[in-house]
Amino acid sequence: MIDVTALRSVPERLGRLPRLLDVACGTGILLSRLLDRVPGAEAYGVDASEDMLAQARTALKDQPHVHLERVQVGEGPTAGLPFAQETFDLITCTNALHDMPEPLATLSGLRRLLSPGGQLVVEDFARREHSFPWAVFEWLLHQIEGSPVHAFTLAEAQSLCTQAGLSCAGESLQQRHQGIPRIHARGGMGANLRDTVPDILCEIWYTCSMRQMITAKLKLLTTPNQFRALRQTQLAYRDALNYVSRYAYAHGKKSNQQWLQKETYAEVRAVYHLPAQMACNVPRQVGATYKTLWTKVKQNAVARKEGRTKKRYKGLDKPPKYVSPTLTYNYHRDYSLKPDQQVSILTLEGRVIVPYTGYSQHVTLLQQGTHIGAARLWYDKPCKQFYLLVTLELEVADPMPETHQQIVGVDVGQRYLAVTVRLDNGASFFSGKRVRAKADHYARLRKRLQQKGTRSATRRLVVISGRERRLKQAVNHQISRHIVEGHPSSIIGLEDLTHIRERTKRKRGKKAGQKQRRANRHASSWAFAELHSYLAYKALLAGSMAVKVDAYHTSQACPRCGYASPDNRPSKGLTFVCQSCHYTLHADLVGARNVALRTLLVRQDWMSTGHLSVAPDGSDSEAKAVRRQRYAELRWSPDPSPCL
Ligand SMILES: [Zn+2]
Repeated sequence: MIDVTALRSVPERLGRLPRLLDVACGTGILLSRLLDRVPGAEAYGVDASEDMLAQARTALKDQPHVHLERVQVGEGPTAGLPFAQETFDLITCTNALHDMPEPLATLSGLRRLLSPGGQLVVEDFARREHSFPWAVFEWLLHQIEGSPVHAFTLAEAQSLCTQAGLSCAGESLQQRHQGIPRIHARGGMGANLRDTVPDILCEIWYTCSMRQMITAKLKLLTTPNQFRALRQTQLAYRDALNYVSRYAYAHGKKSNQQWLQKETYAEVRAVYHLPAQMACNVPRQVGATYKTLWTKVKQNAVARKEGRTKKRYKGLDKPPKYVSPTLTYNYHRDYSLKPDQQVSILTLEGRVIVPYTGYSQHVTLLQQGTHIGAARLWYDKPCKQFYLLVTLELEVADPMPETHQQIVGVDVGQRYLAVTVRLDNGASFFSGKRVRAKADHYARLRKRLQQKGTRSATRRLVVISGRERRLKQAVNHQISRHIVEGHPSSIIGLEDLTHIRERTKRKRGKKAGQKQRRANRHASSWAFAELHSYLAYKALLAGSMAVKVDAYHTSQACPRCGYASPDNRPSKGLTFVCQSCHYTLHADLVGARNVALRTLLVRQDWMSTGHLSVAPDGSDSEAKAVRRQRYAELRWSPDPSPCL
């Protein structure tokens, strides 16, 4: 990957020691390996975490020319780093690109730090081109880390490099020893140098191993004093957020984090008594909020210009107010794990050491030292109980057709929240009757309170909405866990609900489809998208995988002869009767069977082409027609043969 020969020849060519920089150097592992291969080089490492740097100092204490500094990489001419331009012969940046708020500006800055003939090596985990759950993961990461996170595909990363003034000279696909593809690109740099020999090399090195984030919920067993300290810290942090938010608003709604930091740091420290690390997080979080809101303002302006909407986005009409006191802690910096199931947490009064309990599986992972990320301190107000929500990162093996033998079709609906069917005719039903009744009760109550509109009604409304949401979440967790545990090594097929809203909107009376009729009876809508996202991530953790198939006619098509018509459900009853071949079946099984058949098609394509498509490509009408033609040819055979 790294051109070591070029680095070793630096003293001869330039008459000085080679200079290496590792951005986000962590515990210094990469630097120490580099120094093994390029002995005597000057090694520089920067990282935002003091604890990481302390470990790096220990690891590198025997090396003569090591400089470690606590700096957060950012924007600007030298990427916010305290070095002169054209300093380094090699810059490495591992697992950090996805975390940068302004990756383009940072890459441009890093390019300027390279000396002529230098190399930039960027390594990150790749987003695979067609992997469907990534949107979910990014959303989860966003929830966990509190700031937007974006994993790039190789193509996106290449485009970033090109925009940063690095032009790509070539590209090759390599196979890693375990058979996992690794994509490796190598490029030359400089618009005016394009015709000559590449001056600065940029390498993007993407590994396709998958990482899966999960959250461990730890119950904190606090003493009254610790409880008070945590609560105080939480509220002080929230007040500080609101102070900085008001400040940013009053000064042109600025979103620049560095500027906010410079302007408000002293005040945040003095008035809210936050420890230094936490005081730095405040402007960062506020800056990120403003950035997101500005994006929405701009998107809204475009939408209004194009006549797509008439509404004006009001998110920045007044300073955004932070209501939730949930506080984010960085691992090693603001919190750390201690032996004997204890955790050390930073508060206004210094660190407190609190024992915790949690799911035994999570606790084991924590004790094994699985990659641990940021944590959120969450206060359960009704129970007066603190929880620490710790993010864990697990490595998941790349999926192969051989490791996913079983096919399951899942249909969601009103009478049964979920129905699953295997190709061997095994089926399970998850009844929604009782929880639906409860959810409907909450929904009606909510509607009444909304109409009332008094202050006490609003207060009740918050409570009711919370209950309704938690009820749905709990049931969705339960159903998805049952489905995933009941189907190991499976491909779990789900209906693509992306456009379900457009398709089913405002249909009443005779025009309404069966699903819509059933839905109209209910005062509450069930969170099926949430159920799907739970299924997707639980499946991955359990070595299975979820894919999406076209939802077109899943409840009307005959699984035996393919004939599709609304008349296949005579008088909308519980029985499906095919009007063509008179095949008769429990109506709720039809959808799941059709989904299972379509999922089998996905697996067959995967085996024959080596390419896995986890979601139907929607835009192209020709592709859609071909796909639906293939669907119409699918047959449910009474003999459960795996290769239909
Ligand atoms: Zn039929």
